[in-house]
Amino acid sequence: MEQVPTFFSYFGVKRGFFFKREGKDESKREVLEMIQPIVDVHCHVVGNEKMMSQELRAIFAKLLSWDCGTPTPEVLIEQMDKAGVQFAVLQAYDIKEAGMDIPNAFVAETIKKYPDRFICGYASTDPIKRGVRNAIAMLQEAYEMGLRGLKLHPLAMQFSPNDKKLYPLYKKCIEYNIPVGFHIQPAPIPGVRLKFCNIVPIDELAHDLPELKIQICHFGKYPMPPDVFDLMCCLMSKRNVFTDTSAPMPMTKEGILNTLGWIKKLNLGDKSMFGTDFPIQPQSWWVECMEKVDFTEGEKSKIMCSNALKFIGREDLLQ
Ligand SMILES: [Zn+2]
Repeated sequence: MEQVPTFFSYFGVKRGFFFKREGKDESKREVLEMIQPIVDVHCHVVGNEKMMSQELRAIFAKLLSWDCGTPTPEVLIEQMDKAGVQFAVLQAYDIKEAGMDIPNAFVAETIKKYPDRFICGYASTDPIKRGVRNAIAMLQEAYEMGLRGLKLHPLAMQFSPNDKKLYPLYKKCIEYNIPVGFHIQPAPIPGVRLKFCNIVPIDELAHDLPELKIQICHFGKYPMPPDVFDLMCCLMSKRNVFTDTSAPMPMTKEGILNTLGWIKKLNLGDKSMFGTDFPIQPQSWWVECMEKVDFTEGEKSKIMCSNALKFIGREDLLQ
């Protein structure tokens, strides 16, 4: 039985965490306890074993200290329940050569099947392999299926995020008012080019297209100096850029604590969103680690819930 930190609670169907809100009458020092849902803004699930290659599974088996088997939507829901996570955002992946082929249609079907748990889905399309015009057509098709974000992997798809030929694709995201998430952390998967794992081209893109909502996945390149300072400057100087905490190096509880520690030390609570990159890490680890960092109630509330709901356009779920 895993230990659940005290400020997280199940309470029947309610999942989330408590935070304390000071009442208006200070003389009574009234404190209201609220329950906020926990939102995991970065997850991947598959419908069958073919969506994740054997080669990739073997790599994960070497690197990760847990194994959830085939990460189906139902397995994720089970993990969410265990950790007290109410909502998750699912991301497709159009990187078959690197080992992941999670179709947009599958993600769209899954969020329709479990709308109470999966509150947003990101499409994925490789603009280099397919060409930008076809990528835009795929995004349009995905949008019509109900997906409301775009996930790109510059290392596996082999492009620089500020390559001007991709700007029509980004402009489509602006038109739809949907975010684009970039994986730029070094990834030990087939065919990646490490020269594309930098924050600077994303900072350039954020400068060129200030209306584009950008998610720097995995807390940037590395959750440690000097890269973490590039991330901080990009987040603080660009209104339109946010980060998610998922899959920090090393991919252990120690790595999670390190990432959360940097959020606290650099005061990045306004720009950070709770994300686990499931199936890379179980949500319960994150929930346990959150308790160990000296976050204020306001920081917890933003990181675990409200930043993400605003970012993905689901303010309707804010309590
Ligand atoms: Zn991911």
